[in-house]
Amino acid sequence: MFCGPTLPALRSVNKGGRMTSDTLLLNSTYEPLRIIGWQRAVTMMCLEKVDVIVSYESMLRSMSLSLQKPSVVRLCRYVRRHKMKVSLSRRNIHIRDKGKCQYCQKQLDLKDFTLDHVTPKSRGGQTSWTNIVAACGACNRKKGSKSLKEARMRLLAKPIEPRPSAQYLLSFNDNMPTPWQPFLRSLG
Ligand SMILES: [Zn+2]
Repeated sequence: MFCGPTLPALRSVNKGGRMTSDTLLLNSTYEPLRIIGWQRAVTMMCLEKVDVIVSYESMLRSMSLSLQKPSVVRLCRYVRRHKMKVSLSRRNIHIRDKGKCQYCQKQLDLKDFTLDHVTPKSRGGQTSWTNIVAACGACNRKKGSKSLKEARMRLLAKPIEPRPSAQYLLSFNDNMPTPWQPFLRSLG
């Protein structure tokens, strides 16, 4: 095949249109595992570790070869997967809290909102799913380093660790590549 010296020379030829260069990696059972770069996917193809299930229209070219960029690949051998966890990030907290200040319900901009430790850090509060909420600047200042009771404030909902679902695991909410969609439905 095209393994060996030609591989590093492969380059992506993308004609127009914004496109992801990523590849969705599936387990042998078609369960989505994670998103990898196309280069890694091509390497895995070389090593015969994956089969290509769906390709993008864009081509990868080198001196001696051209192939379609892999969009969805499937592992030939089953891997036992670790339980997927949703990473504690600003973006994911914003998703969990439905983009609202958990004190006053104000709609929060993803680029510009604050994170509040429900039990303040200064009192041993952890940076964890169950102790961090999205808050507007005003509520965050008002609460300061007080407890909920002392600040006389209430949370909209008890903060919990979200169950993994496509919206948390992928960085594209609205721009998810179409070929991925059927495989990600199982994640909810
Ligand atoms: Zn607020």
